[in-house]
Amino acid sequence: MHPEHFSNTMRQYKRYLVTSALPYANGPLHIGHLAGAYLSADIYVRFQRLMGKDIVFICGSDENGAAITIKAMQEGVHPQQIVDKYHAQFKDTFSRIGISFDMYHRTSAPLHHETSQDFFRTLYKSGQFEEKESEQYYDEEAKQFLADRYIMGTCPRCGYEQAYGDQCEKCGSSLSPTDLIDPVSRLSGKKPVLRKTVHWYLPLDKYESWLKDWINTGNLDGTQQHDPEEWKNHVLGQCNSWLDGGLQPRAMTRDLDWGVDVPSDIKGHEGKKLYVWLDAPIGYISSTKQWAADNNKNWKRYWQDQDTALIHFIGKDNIVFHCLIFPAILKAHGGYVLPINVPANQFLNLEGKKISTSRNWAVWVHEYLDEIPNRQDELRYAMIKNMPEQKDSEFTWKGYQEAVNSELVNNLANFVNRVVVLTHKYYGGKVPDFDESTDIYGPDGIDDISFHDAELLRLFDDIQDMNEHIRSFDFRSGLKTLMEISTKGNQILQFNEPWKTIKEDPENVKVVMNLCLQYVAAIGIICRPFMPFTSDKIRQLLNQKPLTEKGELVKMLDQLAEGEVLLKKHHKIGEAIHLFTRIEDALIDTQINKLKAAEAVNTAANQTTESKEIQSIAPIKAEIAFDDFAKLDIRTATIINAEKIENADKLLKLTLDLGFEQRTVVSGIAEHYQPKDVIGRKVSLLANLAPRKMRGVTSQGMILMAENNEGKLSFISPDGNWENGQIIR
Ligand SMILES: [Zn+2]
Repeated sequence: MHPEHFSNTMRQYKRYLVTSALPYANGPLHIGHLAGAYLSADIYVRFQRLMGKDIVFICGSDENGAAITIKAMQEGVHPQQIVDKYHAQFKDTFSRIGISFDMYHRTSAPLHHETSQDFFRTLYKSGQFEEKESEQYYDEEAKQFLADRYIMGTCPRCGYEQAYGDQCEKCGSSLSPTDLIDPVSRLSGKKPVLRKTVHWYLPLDKYESWLKDWINTGNLDGTQQHDPEEWKNHVLGQCNSWLDGGLQPRAMTRDLDWGVDVPSDIKGHEGKKLYVWLDAPIGYISSTKQWAADNNKNWKRYWQDQDTALIHFIGKDNIVFHCLIFPAILKAHGGYVLPINVPANQFLNLEGKKISTSRNWAVWVHEYLDEIPNRQDELRYAMIKNMPEQKDSEFTWKGYQEAVNSELVNNLANFVNRVVVLTHKYYGGKVPDFDESTDIYGPDGIDDISFHDAELLRLFDDIQDMNEHIRSFDFRSGLKTLMEISTKGNQILQFNEPWKTIKEDPENVKVVMNLCLQYVAAIGIICRPFMPFTSDKIRQLLNQKPLTEKGELVKMLDQLAEGEVLLKKHHKIGEAIHLFTRIEDALIDTQINKLKAAEAVNTAANQTTESKEIQSIAPIKAEIAFDDFAKLDIRTATIINAEKIENADKLLKLTLDLGFEQRTVVSGIAEHYQPKDVIGRKVSLLANLAPRKMRGVTSQGMILMAENNEGKLSFISPDGNWENGQIIR
């Protein structure tokens, strides 16, 4: 039989260009970043290298823009110091966790400045831009236009007084600087003035129709560029919701002081920088140029030849940027390929909450590597297992521990270790030879193929399944298949029990052990995309050279399909080493406590400002008609009995006298009042609220309470000795 190594349905490309989103150099990397754009790309790239493909993996630090100058201002240093710090940290962290970029570049490099300026010039000269005058805030004291982040003011939506010119961090609204009430310049602390300024816009509205067609059918200028069936649904969905909403012209320049200058040969360039929409994605191109220069390659083949498959790995917050805006820029320039896929991941949450840099609710990758050394693959494994491929997912330390202990230790490490130890015990560490004629024939009634050969073919099929998952960006399933292969290895060992049969049937044990060694050798290669450090260890304990990721997987598939073994008879293997060890509770507890401590610091820090804000803002709800109010039936009542509800810390079960009837009401006041303290209290009751069952008790209405900034409660009671059942209006 001859193997079909490649899926028939997928187009063949001569080369691949893979990019991961450029991380922004104003803070360290956390596991959410890793899960979004880096691990997935690394798996895919390592796999394609093992399949012998021509593939380049490109990334770099995004070092321009206002957030970096703001950070520099806060820390009292030059912006260059900020980007130098994080660029070095990113590079080191990625390398330590095994993200195998071919080039990790940076957008402060002169090569990048030149490349993006060339791009701008080409678009400008071919008349792609529209020039538009607008009014923007200007700081007369600092004598400069103010980027969105340089302006603070009161949010028009929620009243938060420290909203930024682009976003309110309190209510999450996205804003523009002119939306802010009482804007203040962060540079001088003065009120900014509006001034006229001119910018160059990319008319995305004009590209809407080809973008729609290209995204949804893959068709561009009459040729099939990609297969939308291979794109993730949530990616297509987000693109289409933007397209349906109508695209607007986007400014490609800004009045900024840190970034790539608008080329000086362009009239009106003074004080203007390229906006991130144009600057950052061109970082992929400049990074490729640097790689090509360093490796004596032609970068143009990777960007401008139609036989290149360009794939962008990103998080979902970058979808519009990579699926609509960057393709529009590339096509407006002309001569560039567009991505064949943008397999964006959704978000990874942490212990039930959104990861937050500002609240320090994160697992920082460099800290993980320092605090839990030599466990890179454990983190990779736990994250790939929970990768947010189709929907948001969650990382928990308990889940991490469970994945390592019950899967990596009990399954994979256990199998490999038993095979290595038994090989040393029975055969002095040499791969056993066996007599073909003693091999078992026909365990399932198949009598023309031996057990050994049949199992190797099954292994071949399983590996093909795994490969297919990786090719279609389904890395979770790929990892699952890898672990199933390890499980099958364990089962072969367990079923044949060589430790019991070594005496009476040594010939059969040779067959079984030889087969298991072939399994271990295969796992040493196929685990590589997911767990490169483990691959090195397995290769070491089999006394094989580390993989160079140059076609080793495709070679192995050829061997298996031809019925050849991966480890030759009498090959001497290495000594047993532990692939994985158990994660103890103490380690997990330390990490969980660290998160709790970060949360406590935040709560304390926020409390003072928080209460002040609530006090000053207390947003008024949307207006209602009198008729809406008239629907509420509020009555005076007296609490005549109160008792705690079992297993509900916050709830009291109250009996109310309304004069004409008695009612049971469940109220969330148990943390504020003891039952004995509320009996006899006069209250206001919303009496026509639909009954609701809480903890098995049906509540017939709701008691009205006032709540202050600290969350304290107070009853709303009529004065004096008022009768029950009277109407409040
Ligand atoms: Zn707000």
